[in-house]
Amino acid sequence: MLQSIPREDTFLHKGLRAKLVDELVKLGIKDAAVIAAIQKIPRHFFLEPGFERYAYENRAFTILANQTISHPYTVAFQTELLAIKKFDKVLEVGTGSAYQTCVLAELGAQVFSIERQKELYDYANHFFYLKKYGTIKRFYGDGFAGLPTYGPFDKIIITAGAPKIPEQLVAQLKIGGIMIIPLGENEQQQMLRLTKLEDGSLQEEHFGSFSFVPMLEGKNDKR
Ligand code: SAH
Repeated sequence: MLQSIPREDTFLHKGLRAKLVDELVKLGIKDAAVIAAIQKIPRHFFLEPGFERYAYENRAFTILANQTISHPYTVAFQTELLAIKKFDKVLEVGTGSAYQTCVLAELGAQVFSIERQKELYDYANHFFYLKKYGTIKRFYGDGFAGLPTYGPFDKIIITAGAPKIPEQLVAQLKIGGIMIIPLGENEQQQMLRLTKLEDGSLQEEHFGSFSFVPMLEGKNDKR
C-alpha cells in the first residue's frame, strides 16, 4: 500500500512550503500558530506521489472518491477562525485527505474527524503520517449526525458545503463553543462563524464566499 510507505520531506519541499506560507500571510493569515503548523506539515504527503508538485500551490486538488483537499488558504482561514486552544475538543466533518485534521492536531486539539466516504476513511487507516498524531480519532459516518457520545465539543469545523446548519451539531457544541461552517446550497458558500451563547442561541458572523464539495447526507461505501 503506497500510503503506508513513509515519504521524504526535502529542503526543496520545505522551501516551497515557506513560499506558500509567505503567500498565505500576504492573503491576510495572521495567527502565528496556524502559520507554524502549515510550515511544519508536509502537504505533499497528502497528495498521490505523482501530483506532489501541486502540493505547494495555493489550490485545492482532487483526491480519492472524487473529493478534494481544500485550498491551503481555506484551511488556514477556517483554522484561524476556530481559535484553537491546547486540548480543545474539536469535531471535524469531512476528513478527506486528513490534512486539515493534522493542522488541528498540530495546534494541540483533540480531533474527532468524520468522513462519509468509506474509500477515504479506509485509505487514512494506512496513511503513515497520521501515526504521528495520537490525538486524532477518525470515524466513518455521517457528519450531519455528529458524534453524540463523544460530545459536547469546544469547536466544530465543517469542511464541506452545508445546505443548512445541522441541528444535531449545534446540540453537540458547548456553550461558548464555535462552529465554522461554509453554508450554501450552490457552488459558492458563505463562511460563517457561529458562537453558541448562554441561552443556546447562535451568534452569526459572515466571512465571505468560498467553494467546497457538498456536504451530503448518509454514508457512501462504494469503492
Ligand atoms: N478537510 C478535507 C476536505 C475534504 S473535502 C481536506 O482538506 O482534505 C470534504 C470532505 O467532506 C469530503 O471528503 C467528503 O466526502 C466529506 N463529506 C461530505 N459530506 C459529509 C458528511 N455528511 N459527513 C462526513 N463527511 C462528509
